[in-house]
Amino acid sequence: MARTTQNLQLYNTLTREKARFKPLDPAHIRLYVCGPTVYDFAHIGNARPVIVFDVLYRLLSHLFGREHVTYVRNITDVDDKINARALRDFPDLPLNAAIAKVTKTTADQFHADVAALGCLEPTHEPRATDNIQQMQDMIAALIAKGHAYEAEGEVLFDTASMADYGALSKRNLDEQQAGARIEVEAHKRNAADFVLWKGSSETEPGWESPWGRGRPGWHIECSAMSNRYLWDAVADQLSDDAKAHAHEFDIHGGGLDLIFPHHENEIAQSRCAHDAGAMARVWMHNGFLQVEGEKMSKSLGNFITINELLATDKFGGRKWPGEVLRLAMLMTHYREPIDFSVRKLEEASNILERWYQLAGKALPERDADWENEIVDQALSNDLNTPDAIRRLSTLADAVRDQPEAAGRFKQVANLLGFLTQTKSEWDAAKRADVTLSDDEILAQIAARHAARQAKDWAEGDRIRDELLKMGIQLKDAKNPETGEIETTWEVKR
Ligand code: AMP
Ligand code: ZN
Repeated sequence: MARTTQNLQLYNTLTREKARFKPLDPAHIRLYVCGPTVYDFAHIGNARPVIVFDVLYRLLSHLFGREHVTYVRNITDVDDKINARALRDFPDLPLNAAIAKVTKTTADQFHADVAALGCLEPTHEPRATDNIQQMQDMIAALIAKGHAYEAEGEVLFDTASMADYGALSKRNLDEQQAGARIEVEAHKRNAADFVLWKGSSETEPGWESPWGRGRPGWHIECSAMSNRYLWDAVADQLSDDAKAHAHEFDIHGGGLDLIFPHHENEIAQSRCAHDAGAMARVWMHNGFLQVEGEKMSKSLGNFITINELLATDKFGGRKWPGEVLRLAMLMTHYREPIDFSVRKLEEASNILERWYQLAGKALPERDADWENEIVDQALSNDLNTPDAIRRLSTLADAVRDQPEAAGRFKQVANLLGFLTQTKSEWDAAKRADVTLSDDEILAQIAARHAARQAKDWAEGDRIRDELLKMGIQLKDAKNPETGEIETTWEVKR
């Protein structure tokens, strides 16, 4: 149920200030986040915007009602990196078939990865290749309005035609010109002019267009897709206030590195094509992730994919459940840099273990006070997830003393996408790399019990140590009623 009042504060890169979020139309909250370019496995840095904006989507859904929020995250499936990968990996296939193979496998992998991280599916996930016409329409409008020009088989955006080009990144065009170290490419009027459309050779993918067979530039993809799903598709349902802000939507997000040039250029295209005062009202950017104190790069050998963390022991010698990765990510505020480390993952794993122990079997049960605390005090303060996690841990203390509160705790943890599995699923994920089944473990425990009955202590210890090597720790406790020693087991990390 939507709440009537809310005090969500968000930091806006456009104004460099935190301010109260005022939706254009509270019945139609509109959010766009730049999605992956599908040519390779997503790395753990790419997971950060997906997780951060998933929390925002959950929060907006909580505040305004899920049916009142439209979340668009695109898939960039036209890109020269994709072409290069297709030629490398499938040299024997025709180019289009090779490209389709690369983009399908990569997009499928991306979906599996982010689902494991507990991220909800966006409302729409448009692909660039399904929106070529929309891009061409927008480019034609830019040319007609004097904001773009053709030169040497390309269509370029004329940055000098926009008085306040550079407002998001606070770059001023003259400064850029003066500071430019590279010579302006001969066909460009200004160094900052960027490609909207470029010609394709016979061996490159291309679409027919008024400017010859070619392909779109990266920036125009997002301008066209956001406008299609956040304006064209909904405009007739919007309030009069929102209609008065034609072509604008509420929030646009992505990583810090996208501010310039990608988002700056999206703004230039969208505003100039539609004569709009703004593209999005609020621009949000997550900080960068580094690994064990260093920038992630293939040459440093610390480049790690989401899939490697989930499915191999390449990082820290073990597999990590997606929920642990999610918590580790959200323990840092989204605008801060994050240092991803084994130590941080272990900390997140321990926190979740405790939460599952306390709330494991309970069914979620609504509690307005706890909910308001997490939502109003923490998340509404510019998505302060570290604060929310600290508060959750304090609530966990209350559950320890008051086990009947377990369901309430589970429900507030669910708000952030945690404790969404059953306790046994969590246990299973934790012991994903333990190869013994429960029955095999119980059989080993019985064998040890028999050895000890026969006073073969060495054999009993051997079985215990073997299990420990496989990550299974045994615990012996005396049953106070029968006086018998009973053995239980848990996964040891
Ligand atoms: P890309 O595939 O480079 O276009 O990146 C996809 C998304 O991941 C963009 O929103 C980037 O800003 C973000 N991103 C890439 N690398 C990192 C990183 N190391 N830390 C945080 N975000 C990143
Ligand atoms: Zn984009």
